[in-house]
Amino acid sequence: MVHLVGAGPGDPELLTVKAHRLLAAADIVLHDDLVPAAILAIVGPQAKVISVGKRCGAKGITQAEINALMIDFARRGLDVVRLKSGDPGIFGRLAEEIDALTAADVPFEVVPGITAGLGAAASLGVSLTDRRKSARMVVVTGHHAQKGGRQEKPDWKNLARGNATLVIYMPGHDFAGLREEFLTAGLAEDIPAAIVSHASTPQQQHQYTTIRDLDKLPHLDSPAILLVGRVLEDARLRDAENPLFALDDASLIVTSR
Ligand code: SAH
Repeated sequence: MVHLVGAGPGDPELLTVKAHRLLAAADIVLHDDLVPAAILAIVGPQAKVISVGKRCGAKGITQAEINALMIDFARRGLDVVRLKSGDPGIFGRLAEEIDALTAADVPFEVVPGITAGLGAAASLGVSLTDRRKSARMVVVTGHHAQKGGRQEKPDWKNLARGNATLVIYMPGHDFAGLREEFLTAGLAEDIPAAIVSHASTPQQQHQYTTIRDLDKLPHLDSPAILLVGRVLEDARLRDAENPLFALDDASLIVTSR
């Protein structure tokens, strides 16, 4: 059996009870880069922990190789946890792994996790669908890999609307470009935005701005997520009045933990 498990945004207390139980009992844990040590510490001593992250653990590992590892361990009768950051189904290649397991006749289950966008919103005290300010929430990535490895930009003209909350995973660093896209799509300059890095962890940092000044946003550490929308207005004011802990007066970067 392969359990495709969401690890949440980073805080071990934001794991589901089920994820916690599966991690403690697993024989094999195959995890991505973004899963922090504090969560891997829950894995039992009997288990083999393998990083299949493309950045640190296994440079150059392909999706096909990850699929083959899962299938191979499961066929040996081992209890496999495939641990992915956030929710496994949000920008996590879940569907490709399910396809491979199904083709190999390996039983699986999906255990959802708290996705980074929800973790970031909670850390700011923001309701992403505050009905007074937002009619919908758009979950999107700044970079979208198309077939053949081509990078495609989101269709901002259709996605960026004044009454939508944008939750942008992998926003990249071209905030000046994003600003132009949003203004061209007709968004008002005073709509707030916030970048949140390492949401829910002790390294969390965030910075508010508006679309007008989006190009001046600092490049916070990866992983970072960009939230855009009027639902941020009140939290932005609260933050300006009472930053809990100013890290650096000059940069005005504040952290809430
Ligand atoms: N499946 C994951 C997303 C994987 S894509 C989820 O549901 O959260 C990786 C991207 O997620 C990162 O580039 C970043 O944009 C975002 N991300 C993941 N963890 C984050 C965190 N703790 N804080 C801010 N952004 C995070």
